[in-house]
Amino acid sequence: MLDVLIVGAGPAGAVAGAILARSGAGVCLVDRATFPRDKLCGDTVNPGTLARLEVLGLADDIEARGLRVDGMLVTGEGDVAIAGRYPGQRAGRAIIRRDLDWLLLQRALTAGCEFEPGVAVRRPIVDHGRPQPVVRGAVVGTSAASCELHARVTIAADGRRSTIAFGLGLARHPVRPRRWAIGGYFENFAPQTTINAEVAEHPEKDALRVPRGLRCTSVFGEMHVRRGRYIGVAPVPGGLTNVCLVRPAGPADAELADPAAMLIRELARDRALRDRAAGARLVGPPVVLGPLAVDVCDAAIDGLLLAGDAAGFIDPMTGDGLRFATRGGELAAAAALQALEHGWTGVHARLRAARRVDFAGKWRFNRVLRTLVSSPRGVDLAAAAARVAPAILRAVIARAGDCHVE
Ligand SMILES: Cc1cc2nc3c(=O)[nH]c(=O)nc-3n(C[C@H](O)[C@H](O)[C@H](O)COP(=O)(O)OP(=O)(O)OC[C@H]3O[C@@H](n4cnc5c(N)ncnc54)[C@H](O)[C@@H]3O)c2cc1C
Repeated sequence: MLDVLIVGAGPAGAVAGAILARSGAGVCLVDRATFPRDKLCGDTVNPGTLARLEVLGLADDIEARGLRVDGMLVTGEGDVAIAGRYPGQRAGRAIIRRDLDWLLLQRALTAGCEFEPGVAVRRPIVDHGRPQPVVRGAVVGTSAASCELHARVTIAADGRRSTIAFGLGLARHPVRPRRWAIGGYFENFAPQTTINAEVAEHPEKDALRVPRGLRCTSVFGEMHVRRGRYIGVAPVPGGLTNVCLVRPAGPADAELADPAAMLIRELARDRALRDRAAGARLVGPPVVLGPLAVDVCDAAIDGLLLAGDAAGFIDPMTGDGLRFATRGGELAAAAALQALEHGWTGVHARLRAARRVDFAGKWRFNRVLRTLVSSPRGVDLAAAAARVAPAILRAVIARAGDCHVE
């Protein structure tokens, strides 16, 4: 019997594993992928996430290998373009997820976690003999050959489509919104030239209306919000540029059949991006994910803790999923240690309360933004507000970047 079985070795699983192993728990991490593995993402570690990884002693390699990101450029309908530097000299990092996740996993292994790559979990093992069902581990393998891994605590960190959370009926895709992401890497994507060099040179001016035609001297993430969709753009190490389009779609959407063509078409018709994309070339097939939103009714039942996207996902627009994942992994690890030491009584309530304290404000913020950008009128109103009061957008950028948390 394992102390802790962690399903999924992404950021949530790796952070939980590192903390638990350092605390002396016997931890086995399993993942259906072999690492390093790719993951569709905007590849931006925001300042709040980076600060937390620093506290955990997990940030050195990320800081060294990622590109420093000093803020965000947000453009909207009607040529609105606002650059907002993160306050207080804070910065994030742009780093390809393949590399970030591999670095975090290596930290977990160094801390003493066992790791089984290429092992898919098929379903949780549930003991129904109690008044409340209790999770006792998971069945792993293929339909031809499977085995049971028994554990005192199981942490489901298996991402948005969590086999465990969906399998237990804890997760569902809401009817609305039905948004899909299409993302890929480009080479020769021209750097943006609209960020005012002043933003880089005069950090006291946190956000400025952006005059056209000035060269960027600082790496900023970009969010281009359009009616019904948005496009995130991030320069990443290796001279590549990450481009993610998020738009409504149904599974039968014919355009999703050719995501490369869709991505290129969207860039070509966008006034702010078409010139920069004109000489760019996709370096591999884009990845398609959806529907994106996942609602989860509870992050813990006896024997089981959820962390990261497996505990719910709102929208990638705010670029803070990694903060929920890393902090969620931390909170799950703390709850696991309580359960191992004192049993399950009160563990769910404390985890729920801790997640509320850390996340509830940001969940509300993210839901409001998601609603705003899914309505054409909302996008127009936001553009108008940004024109007359760019400070509002500066505050939104700082909040999205989790600059208020340590
Ligand atoms: C388009 C897009 C852009 C985004 N951009 C950003 C951004 O710029 N910044 C940011 O902070 N966040 C961003 N996010 C969110 C971020 O990617 C996620 O929040 C983050 O990856 C969650 O980490 P995780 O560890 O919970 O899950 P994951 O990173 O998804 O890891 C889950 C792991 O579980 C494994 N797994 C799944 N099922 C099984 C199974 N049955 N058995 C065994 N293993 C399994 C998978 O192989 C995977 O390794 C973005 C998301 C999307 C969709």
